[in-house]
Amino acid sequence: MHEYLSGLNERQKQAVLHKDGPIMIVAGAGSGKTKVLTTRIAHLMAFHRVDAFNILALTFTNKAAREMKERIEKILGNADARNLYVGTFHSVFARILRGEAHRLGYPNSFTIYDTDDAKGVLKTVINEMNLDDKLYKPNVVYNRISSAKNALVNPAEYAVDYYIQQEDARSNRPAIAQIYDAYAKRCFKNGAMDFDDLLIKMYELLKNFPESLHKFQHKFKYILIDEYQDTNPAQYEVIKLLAAAHENVCVVGDDAQSIYSFRGATIQNILQFQKDYEDVTVIKLEQNYRSTQNILNVANEIISNNKNQIPKELWTENAEGEKIRLVRTMSDNEEGKFVADTIQEQKLRNHFSNRDFAILYRTNAQSRAFEESLRRMGIAYTMFGGVSFYSRKEIKDFVAYLRVVVNTRDEEALKRIINYPVRGIGKTTIDKCVLFANTHNISMWEVLEQAPRFGFKGGTLESIENFVVFIKGCQSMLQLKNAYEVAFHVGKQTNIVKELFNDKTTEGLQRYENVQELLNSIKEFTETPSNDDGEVGDKGLSAYLQQITLLTDADEKDPNADTVKLMTIHAAKGLEFPVVFAAGLEEMLFPNAMSINTREELEEERRLFYVVITRAKSKLWITYANSRYKFGQLVQNEPSRFIEEIPQQYLDRSFAGGGIRNQGTSFAQGSAFDRMRGFGASEQAEKLYGPPPSKRKDTVPAYVPPKSAPKVVEHKPSQDFVPSDTSNL
Ligand code: ATP
Ligand code: MG
Repeated sequence: MHEYLSGLNERQKQAVLHKDGPIMIVAGAGSGKTKVLTTRIAHLMAFHRVDAFNILALTFTNKAAREMKERIEKILGNADARNLYVGTFHSVFARILRGEAHRLGYPNSFTIYDTDDAKGVLKTVINEMNLDDKLYKPNVVYNRISSAKNALVNPAEYAVDYYIQQEDARSNRPAIAQIYDAYAKRCFKNGAMDFDDLLIKMYELLKNFPESLHKFQHKFKYILIDEYQDTNPAQYEVIKLLAAAHENVCVVGDDAQSIYSFRGATIQNILQFQKDYEDVTVIKLEQNYRSTQNILNVANEIISNNKNQIPKELWTENAEGEKIRLVRTMSDNEEGKFVADTIQEQKLRNHFSNRDFAILYRTNAQSRAFEESLRRMGIAYTMFGGVSFYSRKEIKDFVAYLRVVVNTRDEEALKRIINYPVRGIGKTTIDKCVLFANTHNISMWEVLEQAPRFGFKGGTLESIENFVVFIKGCQSMLQLKNAYEVAFHVGKQTNIVKELFNDKTTEGLQRYENVQELLNSIKEFTETPSNDDGEVGDKGLSAYLQQITLLTDADEKDPNADTVKLMTIHAAKGLEFPVVFAAGLEEMLFPNAMSINTREELEEERRLFYVVITRAKSKLWITYANSRYKFGQLVQNEPSRFIEEIPQQYLDRSFAGGGIRNQGTSFAQGSAFDRMRGFGASEQAEKLYGPPPSKRKDTVPAYVPPKSAPKVVEHKPSQDFVPSDTSNL
């Protein structure tokens, strides 16, 4: 028997050894789903001799993808794993679209707009439509369009859906349908795709271009998907198309950890899978290898309060472990202090390292108090979710040059740099260019190229012409020079680097260092061995830009650094830590005020609570504060209703609930609105807006009010909070 199989339990082994045909693994947290997926890939390669090029594995983060490759390499003892297509939906689809986008009318070197770029385009469009951008806030409109895209609702469909119209009218924003349409057209004109487009354009490609469909169906003989519960309808449909030829698709997930319904994910995907593939093998893993019995029991109890779930058992042979500690503090600052003090104490007492701790919270804003106390105590930490390196102004400016060189249709980037560094092309000129471009239905770049024709004269004309010549010069390098050589040329010729160097203020120095850092990272990119099949040696600018746009905050930081990790619960999905602090368990914060209006929302908050509890291997603290600053105001908080749900024997409190299976119907059969909101949304909509003209029906979702405040020991600063039970696990 292969060594990598020996540690697995029977069901895990069955999942790994299953070769052909659809297979679904639905199992609770820490039961080895990711381990099975990784081992399965290794087994396909080592035993069945499946070529790495024929395997597609989709993970939740790029980091998870990298780790998966590393583990497989370790198991196989060779570097074959580098040829796997492993990554997030976004990064894998972007890579595929880079070779296929021309079929859809995009340049193959299309630009990927991050959320900032996308909101910039929206702002432009909203202004051009003479709408009030205070009412039509780009943020709000962006989210609305994003939901539509992830549900595969196109502008035309959006415009005619009864409930969608009602909802937009209710929020007093009836023009979103037109904005959506204009935005989609502008992105296309700019030769750009936003993050959501990477999914829907992939779908359109496979749906409308049989050659592409056959090519990738043939290529990806084995498809594997981790965290399947968080896929949305667009992703679901793409996978269905890709897997149609071989049906060798393996999905692993846990409906109890579905926490992305606000992005359109729906656990309906899990139920639908069994209907779409008739001969599907379903495997349930029930042994948890991660957590102590106490932690697992609490998690099981909590999630049993959700009605909407697939019933499953989860048990462990691990030690019983310590009880879960509940700590109340007077304020958020004291909560921060308590956590930092406890980390220090635990390090001394139980020989933990910084890397063994995670502080997990519901919202990014909560990080401040923890950062302050950790810094004061001199404890090294890494915060995930802050301002990304690539969102800094100087970096965005520099990168905008590179974007224009690769894709001159990219109007957002063009506007950013046309007068940076200052070259005498003022706002009036830029506005004119945009206007000419719109009226003649050409790109802004084409206006610049034909500047004399549009009446530009004198100094302005000269500046425009110099700029055009410069960009064209850079473009001519693209075929022969790698990303670094082009970027270096840009930095030198534009004087950007020199100007930043001459700015001797502290901020100026920082900006200079950041741009140097960017250049270093481009160099590193060009020097890392390539693993692209077909396009081997693609070290060009286009490939580089694609890579950085899809980097998430988590990818920029070293996960192995010996630091305490701070992140939201959403970001902690799939991870595990010996010691976890689940912070801010307060009403209105967790469950969040935004998510307590329906049973569906509340159940999703409870799943988040389940996720945070199950990140802990041996020790778990749950903390909450009586008061905290929110939007500059001191707010008093009730303890979270979820605390009530933790049974007495694990926490000196008791509360129990029940679970009923609820299956529902396929999203694919629902209305556009249903797809955007997930299963059952129409019922919800009916509650809000009344039944549609043709239909009358009553539904009242149940709501569980919070119980009285739990009795817990109050935390006072100093050594009072040294835990009495110190058995180390
Ligand atoms: P999550 O739902 O949180 O994503 P998961 O089901 O993917 O969890 P894994 O992360 O794969 O679970 O595994 C949890 C832990 O249990 C890991 O540390 C893994 O190495 C370990 N583990 C899984 N299976 C076994 C096994 N058969 N023997 C020993 N350890 C195991
Ligand atoms: Mg996992």
